Parts: sequence; C-alpha cells; structure tokens
Amino acid sequence: MLRENLESVEKRIQAACERAGRKREEVTLIAVSKTKPAASIREAMDCGIVDFGENKVQELCGKMEEIQEPLRWHLIGHLQRNKVKYIVDKVCMIHSVDSLRLAQEIQKEAAKRDIVCRILVEVNIGGEETKSGVSREEALPLILEIAKLPNVKVKGLMTVAPPVEKPEEARVYFKEMRTLAQEIREAQIPGVEMEELSMGMTGDFETAIEEGATMVRVGTAIFGARQYPTDL
Ligand SMILES: *Cc1c(COP(=O)(O)O)cnc(C)c1O
Repeated sequence: MLRENLESVEKRIQAACERAGRKREEVTLIAVSKTKPAASIREAMDCGIVDFGENKVQELCGKMEEIQEPLRWHLIGHLQRNKVKYIVDKVCMIHSVDSLRLAQEIQKEAAKRDIVCRILVEVNIGGEETKSGVSREEALPLILEIAKLPNVKVKGLMTVAPPVEKPEEARVYFKEMRTLAQEIREAQIPGVEMEELSMGMTGDFETAIEEGATMVRVGTAIFGARQYPTDL
C-alpha cells in the first residue's frame, strides 16, 4: 500500500518537474509522518525515503528514539521556544521560524552545542488570521535580524498555502513565494542563502513544484488519511 502510494507520488513529482523543465534532483520529497507509527516510517525507509517531517517536538523525539538509523528529520510545525533545546541538534532543518525571539532561542541553544542550525522562515503568504508565519512584508526585516545570529543559518522560506478547492488556485501563492525569495536573494544579505522553498502538500505539491518548490511536504498521499483522537 505505502509502496504503491510512494510510487504514485514519485511519478507525479517527476511529471511536474518535466512540465516545469526542472530536474528531479531539485526537489526533495519530505514524507510527513505525523500521527503515524514508527512502523510506517520504517516502511517508507525501506522504499528509500530518508527525509521525514513531523510537526510536534514530543512526537518527533519519541520517533527519533525508536528509530536509530540516521534520517533527516524536519520540524515543520509551530515550535515553542522552551522546546528548542530538545531538537536543535537533532533535526536537519527547522521549517517554521516565524519570530526573532524564536530565532534567538535557537541561536542560544545552537551556540551551546557549537553547531549551526539550518532554518527556513515561515511565511503566511495567504494572510490568514489563524495561521502561523510572518506576513510577506515582515519576512525581509526578520531575515535581516536573523542573519546577525552566527549559529542560525537561513536556508530559505516555507509556507502552507491557504486551503483551496483546486490545486490551481494555490498557484498565485506559490508564485508570490517565489517572487519573495527572489527579492530576498537580491538583497544579498551576508550569510543568508535562499536555496530552499518548502511548499506544497498532498493537495497542491505538483503546482508548488511547477512554481519552484525545492521541498514538498507530503503526508496523506503517502501514509493515508490521518486519524486524530476525536474530541469528547
Ligand atoms: C501535515 C502537514 C503537511 C502534510 O499534509 P498532507 O496534506 O497530509 O500532505 C505538510 N506541511 C505541514 C506544515 C503539515 O503540518
């Protein structure tokens, strides 16, 4: 089941790359394993997946303990400052930095361990009230400040596009993210690399790839629907 799902996602990624005239190697597939057991992660590992995304620190730490093999773990969900210390030296990248205070906490914990932590700045490109991420306008000023932190390395931008009915409707947001990344690149901020655009999920990853995503975060299309405990 999972193998077939992955094969189908892989085919769709390849087709999107072809349509956009991009190389397949330009896009990293991050398998979003949140709420799924370690056994499912192992199944995906057996299919060659090494990048996994989790949105909760506690769940991520539990799975890292269960699975000792070296994997690239990505923290993709909102991160509280008091939890930075548990993951700063364990994840490949933090995708969800949206405040200077959070970046400063990452700086503090990374410096203690003498490492450089790779991060993405999360942008709320649709301007949705309930969503985390900085506004389009706040992104450059925030990155100018984070650039001064020696143990925090800005690698690019991340977004969760607003929910839309058809993937095509998400295209404007992905385009906007690409433009924003280009603007930040042109600012030539020392130490800041705008290499990564983390955007696109199960419902819209092909459109995201067509618009320049370098990382797509796909959960449902790989692992099936998630079951959350129902509220009583
Ligand atoms: C859950 C989640 C995903 C994956 O969502 P799917 O629609 O299941 O592919 C991607 N990004 C973030 C930030 C998420 O929280």
